[in-house]
Amino acid sequence: MIPKQTEVVVVGAGPVGLAVAVSLAEAGRQVTVVDRQSAGANTSRAAVMHPRTLELLERIGVSKRLTELGIHVEQFSVADGNRTLVPLRFDRLPTAYPYVLMIPQNVTEQVLLERLTELGGSVHRPYVAAGVRQSADGAEVTLESGEVIKAQYVVAADGMHSKIRDLAGLGFSGDGTLPLNFTLADVKVEGGLPKEEVLLYFSKAGILVAAPLPDGNYRLVAEVEEAPEKPDVAYAQQLLDTRGPKERARVTEVIWGSRFRIHERVADRYRERRILLAGDAAHTHSPAGGQGMNLGLRDAVVLGEALATAVETGDESKLDEYATAGRAEAVRVVALAHRLTRLATVPAAVRPARNAALRLLAKLPRFRRGLAEQLAAIGHR
Ligand SMILES: Cc1cc2nc3c(=O)[nH]c(=O)nc-3n(C[C@H](O)[C@H](O)[C@H](O)COP(=O)(O)OP(=O)(O)OC[C@H]3O[C@@H](n4cnc5c(N)ncnc54)[C@H](O)[C@@H]3O)c2cc1C
Repeated sequence: MIPKQTEVVVVGAGPVGLAVAVSLAEAGRQVTVVDRQSAGANTSRAAVMHPRTLELLERIGVSKRLTELGIHVEQFSVADGNRTLVPLRFDRLPTAYPYVLMIPQNVTEQVLLERLTELGGSVHRPYVAAGVRQSADGAEVTLESGEVIKAQYVVAADGMHSKIRDLAGLGFSGDGTLPLNFTLADVKVEGGLPKEEVLLYFSKAGILVAAPLPDGNYRLVAEVEEAPEKPDVAYAQQLLDTRGPKERARVTEVIWGSRFRIHERVADRYRERRILLAGDAAHTHSPAGGQGMNLGLRDAVVLGEALATAVETGDESKLDEYATAGRAEAVRVVALAHRLTRLATVPAAVRPARNAALRLLAKLPRFRRGLAEQLAAIGHR
């Protein structure tokens, strides 16, 4: 039975909605989570977790479990064939998590859901939030099924096409779509690729990311002229042959594949009185640097704590802080991902000069460390 009254309603049980709910449940607050899907998505999607995200997720009791389930990658390198252009070390960063954690999004969601269940919470599925209203002392979400849930606050964690954000009149502006097509494939590979390093190939033919996944598979991502709806073995093989390592890396199976285009937007505001945005509902950008879900999870922990204080004491100052600082952080991350994407996708004629310049720059320890800190999101904490 879905409750008629709660303290906080979270719309959306993606990683961000789940993490907000865990944070509230940890603080002993009542939280009701609804999601339109009858089950969580079972695909790997965002597979990178950065040090700062793990530092924050520690506060909701899930970092240890996540680090047990993922691969700890200490080096991220930009390469051209077998030649390393920029080696970025994460093992020297000042953090308790000196590595990039490779972990598929469905596993992250499972860990968050288990934590929520441990704390006595659950997700109500399938329930579509169709309306939202607020008054001076509360808000209510109307579900398509007719039920109404009254609460003190509503969190819109309902993804990029957020209905709650639009109903609350919060704009979602930006430069729109970058005219680039990306293909993504999780593959089984024999030989050629390291198990302990993420590689970003800047080849003449274009970019290719090759990142190890915990089950022994690899995530390949490439910018291409036209991305197939579902890449097959031959397609993934041709990407590795033309853009990857010099040694033969043989693709034997495609486990999952997809394609995407890039949208760059940040919500004009994160808060409209009792409605708060988090995750893709608040920001969306290029996957360069694997920042999207990380930013959303960091939103979630900070927002969960701010909501717990507001519900308990009536003090909303942390909500305002979240709305201002969270948005500023999103603007910074969108700009970083944009710069990385532009650098990765320069026209073919410019690629040799770009690679030569990068090799020179990478000789500067400050450049390498600064970039690693920005990606890890610990440079400005
Ligand atoms: C193919 C693909 C590959 C990706 N790869 C990467 C990557 O490599 N790195 C990276 O950082 N990010 C990646 N992403 C993006 C990443 O998946 C998102 O940033 C992340 O899922 C955002 O989490 P979220 O919880 O904010 O939103 P979502 O995961 O979108 O969750 C929103 C939830 O809200 C629910 N919902 C929506 N509307 C309603 C409603 N009206 N009522 C009730 N429920 C509703 C949805 O069912 C969904 O469960 C990828 C995404 C895709 C699709």
